[in-house]
Amino acid sequence: MPALVLKPGREKSLLRRHPWIFSGAIGRVDGNPAAGGTVDLLSSKGDFLARAAYSPHSQIRARVWTFDPVEPVDADFFRRHIRQAIQTRVGADLVSALARAGTSPAPTDACRLVHAESDGLLGLIVDRYADTLVVQFLAAGAEYWRETIADLLLELTGLKDIYERSDADVRELEGLLPRVGSLRGALHETQITIHENGLEFLVNIATGHKTGFYLDQRQNRLRVRQLAEGREVLDCFCYTGGFTVNALAGGAKSVLSVDSSADALSLCRENVALNAPSSALHSTLEGDVFQVLRKFRDESRQFDLIILDPPKFAPTAAQAEKAARGYKDINLLAFKLLRPGGFLVTFSCSGGVSAELFQKIVAGAALDAGVDAQIVEYLAQAPDHPVALNFPEGAYLKGLVCRKA
Ligand code: SAH
Repeated sequence: MPALVLKPGREKSLLRRHPWIFSGAIGRVDGNPAAGGTVDLLSSKGDFLARAAYSPHSQIRARVWTFDPVEPVDADFFRRHIRQAIQTRVGADLVSALARAGTSPAPTDACRLVHAESDGLLGLIVDRYADTLVVQFLAAGAEYWRETIADLLLELTGLKDIYERSDADVRELEGLLPRVGSLRGALHETQITIHENGLEFLVNIATGHKTGFYLDQRQNRLRVRQLAEGREVLDCFCYTGGFTVNALAGGAKSVLSVDSSADALSLCRENVALNAPSSALHSTLEGDVFQVLRKFRDESRQFDLIILDPPKFAPTAAQAEKAARGYKDINLLAFKLLRPGGFLVTFSCSGGVSAELFQKIVAGAALDAGVDAQIVEYLAQAPDHPVALNFPEGAYLKGLVCRKA
């Protein structure tokens, strides 16, 4: 087995079971490992630390598959770990549709089955959209086992169609080219209808963000449904209408959905029509949220429930300061547009902004807006996007429900 021998003292993170080893920690490469191939990680004294996938082009030079010296990395390894990942979702009753594929729709038939590092399957994302699986191979190790993993996914889910969306930017860091298209089965239609908590959504798995839909917001969208009754709602960064459709289903008085993407807004309108055939309560506005909120402030527009779900402003901590200014700006304006007693449901999906920092930013925004507000709820990513305790980087989505006094 080829091996990476670490520099003296560089085994500490592995002893804490963090799954990444950076290039600077590596003293020597023994043998001639292939990109994505399996290597043993050894201490400078030659002790076994872990078994990992080799990423020769990435700063994250190795990602750990197992800390067990007698566990081989082979098809059986992936069968066990993928099965376990799927079972934890079934156990959490998120994918009752798994047992009912092809029969009447379950209330929710779209969910993440494999969440990469947090399921011990580094760089592998598997999302289920009704009867179609959408996968991303985001690291050299996952890419190396691509065919094995594809076969196992069919075996373990009983489904026939897999679509690949390996077009995330991170692949470039791994020296991998983007790849998009059918991986198993003969999928002709890339626009799929899914169900989420009893509502229907069209998802375009070929062109949508990530694998098509923000599955991580599922329970937060339901929360918005519960808060919406009788309220005038402003859904900022609405994408294809996840929060919008839920707010309407919850009895909102009106919903205005804002996004800079005309394509997203058009799918948003289709999703509204799918669930609320008389959609007179809904309108869309194409524009930059930063400008729209300013304009509304100047016009003294008011709302009872505002959702802010912007894209990642800070993928890493290095961009945190600039991101903080962006978050503060939109949250400050939103506080101004809220009526007394109104709710602000505000999110950050920036890995580089901690929950603590995000709360500080929102507090600063309220202060500068001159409003009193309380946090009435902390929100996070849905349970099919778990966070392994040895991999805190997995906790990226944080949200607050604030009530303006
Ligand atoms: N809330 C959505 C996900 C939002 S994704 C859901 O639950 O499904 C972020 C969205 O912000 C994308 O649709 C993107 O088009 C939009 N966007 C990015 N920058 C923007 C800006 N400055 N103004 C308006 N929309 C923007």
